Amino acid sequence: MHALHPSLKSQPKWFWIADIIRCKQESELPEKKYDADCVRRRAPSFEIVDGQLYKRSFGCPLLCCLLPDEAKIVSMEAHRVTCAAHHGANTLARKLIIKGFYWHTMVRDCIDEVRKCPTCQAFAKKDA
Ligand SMILES: [Zn+2]
Repeated sequence: MHALHPSLKSQPKWFWIADIIRCKQESELPEKKYDADCVRRRAPSFEIVDGQLYKRSFGCPLLCCLLPDEAKIVSMEAHRVTCAAHHGANTLARKLIIKGFYWHTMVRDCIDEVRKCPTCQAFAKKDA
């Protein structure tokens, strides 16, 4: 049986990862009915492989669930370094899924990444 990732305890915003792991490993659900219903509904879409939580996706391999700090680095690097084409937020999110990553706020975070990018903002001002 795999242990809960220690960094999850210090990141309450990402409780859903901890709750899904607890549900899958120990069949425990959160006490609040709404949270329990969310976890029960979402849990079948996830798998734990070697202690890492993965999300199943349609037609793609398992998507690696990232913690907030990892997600921030991956989205910034994909947007500004690896792809370096400064695609829009939706394209960036799609590329991250194709690369095998997942976190539940990825579209919102990609929008933030594009808004914070000086190059994208320079082009946005030019087009206006
Ligand atoms: Zn950019």
